[in-house]
Amino acid sequence: MRIEILTLFPEMCEAVLGESIVGRARAQGLVELHARNIRDYTVSKQKRVDDAPYGGGYGMVMQAQPIYDCFQALCAEWGSRPRLIYLSPQGPTLTQQKARALAALPEIALLCGHYEGVDERVLEAIVDEEISIGNYVLTGGELPALVLADCVVRLLPGVLAADEAFERESHYAGLLEHPQYTRPAVWEGRAVPEILLNGHHAKQEAWRQEQSLRRTIEKRPDLLTERSNEL
Ligand code: SAM
Repeated sequence: MRIEILTLFPEMCEAVLGESIVGRARAQGLVELHARNIRDYTVSKQKRVDDAPYGGGYGMVMQAQPIYDCFQALCAEWGSRPRLIYLSPQGPTLTQQKARALAALPEIALLCGHYEGVDERVLEAIVDEEISIGNYVLTGGELPALVLADCVVRLLPGVLAADEAFERESHYAGLLEHPQYTRPAVWEGRAVPEILLNGHHAKQEAWRQEQSLRRTIEKRPDLLTERSNEL
């Protein structure tokens, strides 16, 4: 899969994309992941990418031209037009289901806004969908784009040790994951549940499923309502 982040702050993205599981996936060629600087495409001699909003108001608005040209250059280089997602507090919230759908695509591009946002006309012209990471407002789209990229990359074949690793995780099947424990077997007087130390495999599996359901009821009963509505 190919993912490109269109941003005014590529270094901020690269710093994160080189680390941990995503960094390893990139190094192994399981995903092509880059950040492209929108400022490189401005026709302004002063390298401007933003201006004051028409009609007054606070802050600055990112101009259409550099974003449009940046995306056109990307399409020309790739020889295809990837789905363009604008990270925006106004979009529907990112879910694990959405991440799975995006992970099935061959390529996506992620547009990061900054300042007061982006000139509406370029959004109308080239953006396919908007995605938010929650009902709050951040300074820029870089952190949301990195959240989305991380969430998608770990679902790609070969990135985690086994598909089972994420199939058991919270939100995959509308439930939260069971509790996890590691060595030592007793820590500060707290013992690991006996069944995980000596239990039979099938009994351990039943325990995990029961715990998963129990935690969802305790911590996120709303997920069960959503799940039953979907069935
Ligand atoms: N004025 C805009 C509004 O009220 O809808 C918010 C602009 S915000 C300060 C600047 C940029 O950060 C946005 O263009 C978007 O790319 C990004 N952003 C902020 N909050 C976000 C969120 N919750 N999810 C996704 N992107 C977000």
